[in-house]
Amino acid sequence: MSHIPHLINGERVAGNGRSAPVYNPSTGDSTSAVGLADRATMQLAIDAAKAAFPAWRNTPPAKRAQIMFRFKQLLEQNENEIAALISAEHGKTLEDAVGELKRGIENVEFACAAPEILKGEYSRNVGPNIDAWTDLQPIGVVAGITPFNFPAMVPLWMYPLAIVCGNCFILKPSERDPSSTLFIAELLNQAGLPKGVLNVVNGDKDAVDALIEAPEVKALSFVGSTPIAEYIYSEGTKRGKRVQALGGAKNHAVLMPDADLDNAVSALMGAAYGSCGERCMAISVAVCVGDQIADALVEKIVPQIQALKIGAGTSCGLDMGPLVTAAARDKVKGYIDAGVAQGAKLVVDGRGLVVPGNENGFFVGGTLFDRVTSDMTIYTDEIFGPVLCIVRVGSLEEAMQLINDHEYGNGTCIFTRDGEAARLFCDEIEVGMVGVNVPLPVPVSYHSFGGWKRSLFGDLHAYGPDGVRFYTRKKAITQRWPARKSHEAAQFAFPSNG
Ligand code: NAD
Repeated sequence: MSHIPHLINGERVAGNGRSAPVYNPSTGDSTSAVGLADRATMQLAIDAAKAAFPAWRNTPPAKRAQIMFRFKQLLEQNENEIAALISAEHGKTLEDAVGELKRGIENVEFACAAPEILKGEYSRNVGPNIDAWTDLQPIGVVAGITPFNFPAMVPLWMYPLAIVCGNCFILKPSERDPSSTLFIAELLNQAGLPKGVLNVVNGDKDAVDALIEAPEVKALSFVGSTPIAEYIYSEGTKRGKRVQALGGAKNHAVLMPDADLDNAVSALMGAAYGSCGERCMAISVAVCVGDQIADALVEKIVPQIQALKIGAGTSCGLDMGPLVTAAARDKVKGYIDAGVAQGAKLVVDGRGLVVPGNENGFFVGGTLFDRVTSDMTIYTDEIFGPVLCIVRVGSLEEAMQLINDHEYGNGTCIFTRDGEAARLFCDEIEVGMVGVNVPLPVPVSYHSFGGWKRSLFGDLHAYGPDGVRFYTRKKAITQRWPARKSHEAAQFAFPSNG
């Protein structure tokens, strides 16, 4: 069985000690083992990043950007190989894996604008012979901790931008599907990144705690589940670090009575069942305003759920692959059991799905519940599987109250032809990312990504303009060059232009 190493100071490092199995979720086989770093291994990465920082912070932003241009080319040239690596360990379809990679590459493109992004602000003659400017300076050694569900895209939300801003980076990817993440990081080294600027250290809680506790690490970006996001935010900020910690979600789609139902159903199918529901922006609740639209939705969507093409993610032309691990499959099945026990109407049941030839894969079929209420665990909790819940309400106001009362506030959308309803929804809904007839409103790379409420701990969203703010600190410089032979007397009143 192959062993997945760390990448420290430009070299593959085996590390010592513990390891964890990595599975092919489509077959259920363990295909490799990933090293779980101990503190000494993590310290090697921290030392390498710290040593690389003085030269890197002084490397011109245009040179840093040139490396990102080459990185983008390499990512595009290796698209098929990366998609195959993602699919083999995550289970998502190859087309979906290519989609995630392309959205990741958009963040590399944004990072290519480093010289423009880092210009700062300048004011001449703020006082007599005095000029002032604000520099955007790097923070130093920063770290990212990422989830399993986007092993290519989410790390690319973080380190390209952190690095072009002049920081050195330590990435701790998910231990469940680390191969594509490592492969991509090696491409950045091939693109000419100096040793130590990017380090990838695999591991679990021990590795994360080593990053939280290291005084050399000045900032932490986290994406994953809410309990861990909250832990990292509180432990990191307690130690004076900057932290942005993105957590879990329960994303609602509101169907108004005037919605274009055929298009809304297509949108819901992709957003609920794409990637087997393992997306933080997946739609898991359809809130139908009125029984008429709810009945029509059930009638149209049931045959489409039953017709989902499900199989090994690595085959072509499928809609959905397996869940990531046996534990994830069992958890999702447990929620379906609970939904039945708590009185929801199970319209399509994915629990019994067997994929011929892949009998040991971690599959659950597309599942639909109707008449779900807000006290059921299938409604309150993030299931992170191919389960769509229909909640019936009487008005848009009731739909919005339901969404605003939920603990998560990552994404949401409304399907309607009514501009007034859409505008009210955008204004009043307490959710960070909103779609109007767009089911997965994931912001493009030049806007920033982030939820509200317990979907984000911290002030700044991920990537885009907020990413630049997170990975730089401002220094305001005021500079006076007196005109020749002039002499200014001591001034005891607070200086002003008055
Ligand atoms: P997870 O929280 O289990 O793991 C995320 C990272 O934290 C991994 O690198 C993992 O090794 C580490 N980790 C796990 N347990 C830890 C512990 N006790 N202490 C310290 N570190 C620990 O999340 P996951 O299952 O990999 O990913 C799915 C979750 O991520 C879902 O909740 C999903 O909504 C969320 N997610 C959110 C966003 C977003 O942008 N808000 C994006 C993608 C995924």
